[in-house]
Amino acid sequence: MKNKLIVGNWKANPSSPREAQELWGKVKRVAQGLKRVETVVCPPVIFLENLANRAKLGARLALGAQDTFWALEGPWTGQIGPGMVRKSGGQYLLLGHSEKRALGDSDSVINQKLKLALAQDLRVILCVGERERDSHGEYLKIIREQITSALEKVSKKFAKQIVIAYEPVWAIGEQAKSSDTPHSFLETAIFIRKILSHWCGHASALAVPVLYGGSVDIKNAGSFLSEGAADGLLVGRASLRADHFTQILKIADELAR
Ligand code: PEP
Repeated sequence: MKNKLIVGNWKANPSSPREAQELWGKVKRVAQGLKRVETVVCPPVIFLENLANRAKLGARLALGAQDTFWALEGPWTGQIGPGMVRKSGGQYLLLGHSEKRALGDSDSVINQKLKLALAQDLRVILCVGERERDSHGEYLKIIREQITSALEKVSKKFAKQIVIAYEPVWAIGEQAKSSDTPHSFLETAIFIRKILSHWCGHASALAVPVLYGGSVDIKNAGSFLSEGAADGLLVGRASLRADHFTQILKIADELAR
């Protein structure tokens, strides 16, 4: 059984460095004691270095950023290069999150960001997912397009640095009426691996973790990991509650036995 990869996306939370340290401290204590889970926390990048200095980062516990720019450095006010994240203790990078796509990140921008981040030795968690679910399978075309355009002209030698997070947009956030079902996720994950195998070959595609994200909580985490056979989870709101997030980590550890 592969280790599970559980990623917390804090988005623009919490509101102060002190609160970020407190939350990180609680998550870190549990995460470091689990043998079958890799925990990744993606805080606002302004907290990154401080949190990195407060933990022994490694295979079980890592930090990441929620976005970076498509240039390493230069006259780009307000932007952050992927090398800066790497040198501040980040090992992971979320790209293509639906909230960033809604703010203007096109598939080709995501492709540029992704290429630069991989070259900076970051592991990229590429978020994909349809805005609406239809019954004719049109949503699968959207997922295919998002993956193939993000990986365009990316060498397959980088397959080990890629993680896919399937996040149907209709299932994300407080306003979401429901999450996906583990069964439907399982089918989508098989489809995602097929697309990946055209890019990097069957064996490498099997090794790419495919995560589920979208209203994951302590009630449904276990079923996505077991019935849905998810390699891990991308957790939004529930990652801001130390008791809930650490409970999800423990569930994942138990199911990876
Ligand atoms: C997300 O936005 O990545 C996410 C999964 O959010 P939530 O868990 O809050 O639905």
